[in-house]
Amino acid sequence: MGKIDKGVKCSIPSCKGEAIRSIAASKVTAAGMKVNTKRRAYLCRTHYKDFKKATRKDRTLEKWRQQGSL
Ligand SMILES: [Zn+2]
Repeated sequence: MGKIDKGVKCSIPSCKGEAIRSIAASKVTAAGMKVNTKRRAYLCRTHYKDFKKATRKDRTLEKWRQQGSL
């Protein structure tokens, strides 16, 4: 989490928004979002909102996912 350079683009494929946040890619994918990197993911305002929304329900989703994969 933290500061990022200006002009960095969002790591979501198909998104061309300018990133406002960097988050570990593993966290972003855990939230159910695809990123085009395996290390540090950069999210634009829109996708950062999505990410926050997704992580708020993280525990529930995680449970669903585990049940679904068993
Ligand atoms: Zn984006």
